Amino acid sequence: MFRADLHCHTTCSDGSYTPIELIALAKEEGLQGLSITDHDTIDAYEMAIPAAKQAGILLGTGVEFSCDFKGSSVHVLGYDYPVNSQEIRAFCEMHARRRQRRNRTILEKLARLRMPIAEEELNQVGRKTIGRPHIAQAMIEKGYVKTLKEAFQLYIGEGRPCYDPGEPFPVQETLNLIHQVGGKAFLAHPHLAASSKLIRELLTLNFNGIECYYAKCTPEQERRWLKVAQKQGLLVSGGSDFHGTLKPHIPLGSSWVTEEIFHTIFQNT
Ligand code: AMP
Ligand code: ZN
Ligand code: FE
Ligand code: FE
Repeated sequence: MFRADLHCHTTCSDGSYTPIELIALAKEEGLQGLSITDHDTIDAYEMAIPAAKQAGILLGTGVEFSCDFKGSSVHVLGYDYPVNSQEIRAFCEMHARRRQRRNRTILEKLARLRMPIAEEELNQVGRKTIGRPHIAQAMIEKGYVKTLKEAFQLYIGEGRPCYDPGEPFPVQETLNLIHQVGGKAFLAHPHLAASSKLIRELLTLNFNGIECYYAKCTPEQERRWLKVAQKQGLLVSGGSDFHGTLKPHIPLGSSWVTEEIFHTIFQNT
């Protein structure tokens, strides 16, 4: 049976598998299709494209952008864009600079609470997007906290003393960019949005689709989003949001889409 996981992360953002390792794992798990959706970067594709070709896996282009909608954090998936697009690369660079400024603020707040971490300590070969999971990891390594959960709950989670939201970047501008380069924009994991009202408002924007199958969502939850998609004439996507060791309870391929859905989204693959 054809199964494609359209939401997963690599070491280019906060996943623990390199692009090559992820393709190997997809093969091992018997997936026929994949889209890598790193946060704010498309760097994984340089290595993943030849690896997928060799493994006989259909690889559609993907990315997951962090955005803001009316003060709430919203993730937008971009699919089926041309991987060599200069516009999308420049957009990712802009996000990297935005994240750097925001990470510095978080590190300053941590230092004030006597938990110094040097910015360089967050860098790793091949890591392009640096975020709070990496800061949490550094906090564990330095003995400031015992677990990732503790780091978020006590210090860097939303509303905690060392949190900083960074400069907000609007959902609408993200949709514009994805459309400008010929890609398709999907609302990621809608059930994680702040409220039903917010989702209704979000879906008045020009999304192409909505992520209906996700990680460990129940069939009832999936049906809810499939109904929304049908009612609003939106395309359907799905994937595990695999991160490797960062979310060890979510295996690659735990959510997936059919061959028909894969080809509806990825017309350039
Ligand atoms: P960032 O994009 O830098 O704001 O980091 C967000 C990422 O941190 C999310 O994609 C999650 O993977 C992770 N994260 C957010 N909140 C928590 C939490 N309470 N516990 C563990 N991980 C979290
Ligand atoms: Zn992540
Ligand atoms: Fe997300
Ligand atoms: Fe994700």
